[in-house]
Amino acid sequence: LGDVKNKLEGFWRLSKLAVPVQEDPGKDFLGVSDGLLLAIAKAIKFPVASMLPQEAFTVIRKSFDARKILKEPNFVYTVDMNVSELVSLEPRTREFISDLEPKIGLIEHLPEQRVSGNLIDVIHEYKKVPRETTSDGGGDNVCSGSMGSYKYTTTSKPKVAVVGSGPSGLFAALVLSELGAEVSLIERGQPVEKRGRDIGALIVRRKLELESNFCFGEGGAGTWSDGKLVTRIGRNSDSVLSVMKTLVHFGAPRGILIDGKPHLGTDRLVPLLRNFRKHLQNLGVSIKFGTRVDDLVVRNENVVGVKVSDSSDKLKLNSQNLPCDAVVLAVGHSARDIYQMLLSHDIDLVPKDFAVGLRIEHPQELINSIQYSGLAAEIHSGRGKVPVADYKVVKYLSGEDGDKSLITGAKGRSCYSFCMCPGGQVVLTSTDPSELCINGMSFSRRASKWANAALVVTVSTLDFNLLNIYGPLAGVQFQREFEQKAAVMGGGNFVVPVQTVTNFLDNKQSATSLPPSSYRLGVKAANLHELFPEHITDALKHSILMFEKELPGFISKDGLLHGVETRTSSPVQIPRSTETYESSSLKGLYPIGEGAGYAGGIVSAAVDGMHAGLAVAKKFNLFPDGI
Ligand code: FAD
Repeated sequence: LGDVKNKLEGFWRLSKLAVPVQEDPGKDFLGVSDGLLLAIAKAIKFPVASMLPQEAFTVIRKSFDARKILKEPNFVYTVDMNVSELVSLEPRTREFISDLEPKIGLIEHLPEQRVSGNLIDVIHEYKKVPRETTSDGGGDNVCSGSMGSYKYTTTSKPKVAVVGSGPSGLFAALVLSELGAEVSLIERGQPVEKRGRDIGALIVRRKLELESNFCFGEGGAGTWSDGKLVTRIGRNSDSVLSVMKTLVHFGAPRGILIDGKPHLGTDRLVPLLRNFRKHLQNLGVSIKFGTRVDDLVVRNENVVGVKVSDSSDKLKLNSQNLPCDAVVLAVGHSARDIYQMLLSHDIDLVPKDFAVGLRIEHPQELINSIQYSGLAAEIHSGRGKVPVADYKVVKYLSGEDGDKSLITGAKGRSCYSFCMCPGGQVVLTSTDPSELCINGMSFSRRASKWANAALVVTVSTLDFNLLNIYGPLAGVQFQREFEQKAAVMGGGNFVVPVQTVTNFLDNKQSATSLPPSSYRLGVKAANLHELFPEHITDALKHSILMFEKELPGFISKDGLLHGVETRTSSPVQIPRSTETYESSSLKGLYPIGEGAGYAGGIVSAAVDGMHAGLAVAKKFNLFPDGI
């Protein structure tokens, strides 16, 4: 009896509920449709689906599954069923629920529904908890409450400089300012309005602003991006949910909480960042755009400030010191000058594995028909019933079986597609005119005619032949070498060297009549075999052959390889304490995000920033354990 009663309380989570495309209202509908009620009725063995009340169900996740092993493509749902509501609205469901048995991965009893809020609400909730306050006579207050005991200084707030307004810096600044620190957010680039104009000038007039471009400026590298919010750090973790809900608070559509492959697109990121900025300013954060941190001010082995200059001041003639109690370094992995500056202070830097390769672009229609066959017609420039097709392929080059022709240096590497942008465009991510590197971006509708993705192979310190000369920055030099080569191969002016995928496999330079490219600054036929060492080229060739097996049609005369994709993740890690986030070689310095080697993407960078913000707040006794 006890068991039955238990089952009739709380929630059941029903997973893998498949609804055929024809019975689903489509990718943009996130509610409970009749088709979904049918799938639910089947899962709980309830005979009349139309009698199930929609109000008792909440969609937690919706994905599209068009794998070829399926009889027909489906939308796949995860749904939470509120049992007491269901039973009160439809008593006949009672016995069906009582008979439910948890089946791993399909039906799970949740005695309580987990509620994790957006970061701002969580902090506000925490601040509302009443605490006893007793003065210790020295201007410090000792507080205790349901979340533990802590101590904070009422007279002076800790001053924290957050360097960089990418996702990691923004979330660190948010947590710290919400918890009462005096935060300066220092950004070498421009606010999104001005940055948008600088990017426009780059695309239209080939004018690269060194400090305001696809990598530098408000929102960081992710602003003019595809805005994919998929992450490898656990979609359902509280930290990721908090970040996603905070993005919704700042204007992202609620659908990102449900969509199996959430993405925003540049057009949605820009207003979101403006709202984020206003919120920080209302909290008193001093945001300094166009201001570059050139150096750290170190006294008695502690960071006591940063040296900043106007980022238009190339010679750093008018720099000034900004005193602070802690520096959160969130500069991303394109701030190569910062790595150099850290070395000058003897701060530990460790070379890190990453991946290099090319960006491949196909007509989106081709990818739609490879992935969806008959369903491709359902896609109308991102407005159709099913999402524009993407792909993700990961392979290991073992050198066994069919891979016998693989040359020695290519064996043992992984190759994978990365940062795939359906309906997107290839963009220039150089921060120096003598170097050329690219990436992909899209708008929310993903409506362009092209599909692009990085095609990369892993590289490690064993590949960095200049380790003796460049030490921990050998990986940076390794990237730079290919970026400079690509710039020369393109002939300058940010023209990108390209080769059709078929010619690349045949080691034959493409003819001048190339398939069209979405890249706006022009492409030039080249033999991309001249770009990388032979073993990397060989690994790329083999990976393309392996991808073809999974995506028949991938090797196509319309597939165009663009050089070069080098900034997949940071080539350096800045060691820090796992608990306090403080640099292991300099007190008061908190290296975070992608540039420090602790994130790879928008969401993981934001999560790192959030945790680092909490760690710094803890150091200054702004909150106790347990938030
Ligand atoms: P960044 O976002 O790089 O931010 C660092 C900030 O620090 C920059 O704004 C920079 O101007 C500033 N800065 C640097 N040096 C200084 C200094 N000395 N003084 C002051 N400020 C400084 N990831 C995804 O998850 N999904 C995607 O779809 C996606 N698409 C991408 C598309 C493109 C074109 C690019 C370039 C990247 C894309 N990424 C994507 C990767 C993602 O943008 C990064 O992983 C993420 O932005 C890293 O966040 P971060 O805060 O660590 O650093």
